[in-house]
Amino acid sequence: MTKKLDVDPVAGRFEMEVVWHGSAEAEEHVAVLGRTAHPSCWMLAGYASGFMSFALGHDVYFVEQSCRVMANACARLWAKTAPRGVPSSTLTCPIFRPLTSRERSIA
Ligand SMILES: [Zn+2]
Repeated sequence: MTKKLDVDPVAGRFEMEVVWHGSAEAEEHVAVLGRTAHPSCWMLAGYASGFMSFALGHDVYFVEQSCRVMANACARLWAKTAPRGVPSSTLTCPIFRPLTSRERSIA
């Protein structure tokens, strides 16, 4: 369910707040590993990020803020575009940093 949507294609801005109910990823996490203090719907956030980045033609990142594994009723995610002109390699969140060639050869 979309809670907020702000799109300006000319400025390259996309912001979205979304709530997801019934995440199978969260349910499996709770069933197998139990609750945690951190969100766990990595595949859902990655899928949404990749889909919206492809659809809009520039990087969009969905980051889960709360999750059912944290004993919340649902997953709440925020999505934002990367600032224009800022290479993804300089983003502060390391999970969105592209792998170096050395890291790719190890993975
Ligand atoms: Zn979740």
